[in-house]
Amino acid sequence: MKNLKNTKRLYQRRSILISSLLGCLFILIIGCSSKEDNIASAKFDITELSVTNLNGTTPKKGETLKIQLTIKNTSGNSNEATIIPLVSSSRFSDFKDVKLKKTVHFVPAGETKKIFIEVGPFIFDESTGKHFAFGRGEYYISSVMINEKIEKDFLEKVFNIESSNAILVPVLVDPGYLKKLVWRNGIKAYLENAFTRKVELYDNGTYTEYPNGLDEMMDIKHIFYPIETQNVLDHSQEGGKCEKAIALAKEELGLLSDWKGPVGTNTANHGFDYLMALSRDSFGGVACGWINVQVTGVFDFDLSLERSQILLIHETSHLLGAPHCDPLQSYVMCAGEKHKKYIDEGTYVYNIASKNQMSNRFD
Ligand SMILES: [Zn+2]
Repeated sequence: MKNLKNTKRLYQRRSILISSLLGCLFILIIGCSSKEDNIASAKFDITELSVTNLNGTTPKKGETLKIQLTIKNTSGNSNEATIIPLVSSSRFSDFKDVKLKKTVHFVPAGETKKIFIEVGPFIFDESTGKHFAFGRGEYYISSVMINEKIEKDFLEKVFNIESSNAILVPVLVDPGYLKKLVWRNGIKAYLENAFTRKVELYDNGTYTEYPNGLDEMMDIKHIFYPIETQNVLDHSQEGGKCEKAIALAKEELGLLSDWKGPVGTNTANHGFDYLMALSRDSFGGVACGWINVQVTGVFDFDLSLERSQILLIHETSHLLGAPHCDPLQSYVMCAGEKHKKYIDEGTYVYNIASKNQMSNRFD
């Protein structure tokens, strides 16, 4: 019995020795140094918080926001603070406690530091996989995460984004779309090129030039947010192209339901204005004005840049209120590829009849 006890004790001692060795090894492996302890013991306070645009004034829709935080390390340990501000919208549904990008700042013990974080106009919240846009309206910084702890110890910071002529457009991009076209500078530049290439407006015998395109003619500014995804026409959702697009938008943007109308900026669409989907398929394009959706493909028989881009602005012009201008011919809303200016120099010509029905329906 005694022997047994001794053996047991020996085993216990041995296992204590082994476990403490393993413990040391574990500490070595995870680098369990004083740094971790300091993060736990360092205490940070937010003493100031403001949100402006990059010029330090009230932000307008479409601008990059600058969040300015003053953080104080109230402990005796110098340390890093990993900061994630959380923002909520008073206007858009499901825009609640959206996590902005993470930044890391070293703050010496007892010191105060000013921190600037630039965000927007689009946000991707990694923690939820959802995409948002800073549309017009009231927002507030609901809390700030500091080293993974929610800090709510400050007044909720309300800020406003003023309206502007910016239109915030998520674009569901089938990678096969660009592959078909002769364009090497990426989808964003392609889209910007399409909406800012010269157009002319025909009115009773005279032409007015808009060197900066549809955007200039309509006094709007498209800001695109491309998301590479599947070919929208392969989506399993039953119905037409727009139905497939609104279902795909729900999945890609993380909306609570399918992308929604009616005409104008809908508060259920995470701050975005209208939806665009690009497909490699040869069908031209479609627009569904009542839900602010356009789906543009190509024409396999004419893959020129001119033809592909006129399809894009034609569909968006529907969303801005223009119907087809038949029986007229050779203007953007009625066979624009037949105009002499298009054939000779690739210029898109709008007829005043179309322009008169178009307006910026988004805010
Ligand atoms: Zn049309």
